[in-house]
Amino acid sequence: MTLRFHVWSIGCQMNTADARRMSDELEACGGEACDRMEEADVVVLYSCVVREAAENKVHNELERIRKVKAGRPSMQIALAGCMVEDDVTDLARRYPFIDRYLSPKLDLPLRDQVFDFLDLDAPYRLDPEDAERFSMVSQPVTVSQGCNRRCTYCVIPFRRGVERSRPSAEIRREIEGLVRRGTREVVLLGQIVDRYGRDIETTLARLLADISEIDGLERIRFLTSYPVDFDRELMEAVASLPKVCEDVNLPVQAGDDDVLRRMARGYKTELYEGVVAEMRSVIPGLGLATDIIVGFCGETETEFANTLALLERTRCDVVHVAMYSPRANTASLKLWPDDVPLEEKRRRLHEIETLQAQVSVEINAGLVGSRQEILVEGIRRDKWYGRTRSNKLVFFDSATSEPGQVLPLTITSASSWSLQGRLESTPTLKTLEPPWPQPD
Ligand code: SF4
Repeated sequence: MTLRFHVWSIGCQMNTADARRMSDELEACGGEACDRMEEADVVVLYSCVVREAAENKVHNELERIRKVKAGRPSMQIALAGCMVEDDVTDLARRYPFIDRYLSPKLDLPLRDQVFDFLDLDAPYRLDPEDAERFSMVSQPVTVSQGCNRRCTYCVIPFRRGVERSRPSAEIRREIEGLVRRGTREVVLLGQIVDRYGRDIETTLARLLADISEIDGLERIRFLTSYPVDFDRELMEAVASLPKVCEDVNLPVQAGDDDVLRRMARGYKTELYEGVVAEMRSVIPGLGLATDIIVGFCGETETEFANTLALLERTRCDVVHVAMYSPRANTASLKLWPDDVPLEEKRRRLHEIETLQAQVSVEINAGLVGSRQEILVEGIRRDKWYGRTRSNKLVFFDSATSEPGQVLPLTITSASSWSLQGRLESTPTLKTLEPPWPQPD
């Protein structure tokens, strides 16, 4: 009988990457993925506790599982991701039906975790024809785990442990396998990805050069960067390696030096703006995203105004904004009250979104008439879509496109969050092998 499994994930792209690797391993053991948790023999949940809303969704999912497992006690449940602490006593008390905890601090190879979890001793097998079924144009790949910093609001170092880099040969093998299955773009992930390799005597720039040599891989991105760790070597690698996209996610979190100090970010706004200016001079056409937390402990109206002013000055392409919510074990929870009222946090969040919508529409309007190379990802409501090298979503009409093609488009119109494009009339189409499954 075939083992049916269901892998669920929420939160960051690292969870998405780990969930995909887990699915691959379960499939390689002869398992078959199913969309509905109710039909699975094995359920693996990749949890997130970075924000309260995400954590609540994990609890909701576990309550759903509780009901299903009551009727099907043979189901095996594994909880992975950042909800899994060193001591799982409380979780085990609340959810006694969980069979296995997979800690993100564990460096045991995933395959061993799966075999251990399922008590499998079947020979490892992967049918390459099976593997070709999936269309996976852009895939996240975890290159390092953990973080040595202690930003006062952040729970990640407690859950994912200290910084550890995966060997570059192992990463390369994983990417080569993805490319054989149709992946054309990889997004390299690390809590501070710029620090990749410092514990194994290499650098992210060298890894980027190494995986650039993989035939069939068209694009490389990486997340998430840190202002004091993004050095000149890395900027020059992005600028000089053709496969590495001009796309950087550099969180600033706040535009006020006192708030940054309370957050223990380890830099001032001046340093951040200096790094952004240097990046823009070294990397032409850079797409820049940042993250902001509003309503951090004690954030005054003046401090918030400084964040708005910084965003007006830096004019990022994208701003991810979140409201502060206190998390267990963090220094901010212990040191200060969560004293910005929820309504005020919402107002500040809305104010940033309004400002950023205006900035994005102006930046995007500047692209109308330009020629952009996009990697086609799929079709949505009769429109094909893909992304520019700077990570802008572009929709276009085409009768013949396929996921995985790299196409030249002329941008015809723009809004704050996407662009519309027209296929160039005499495109030098770059159709990539192998072909993807055709839509019915
Ligand atoms: S750099 Fe700060 S915010 Fe990012 S994972 Fe590390 S502790 Fe958390």
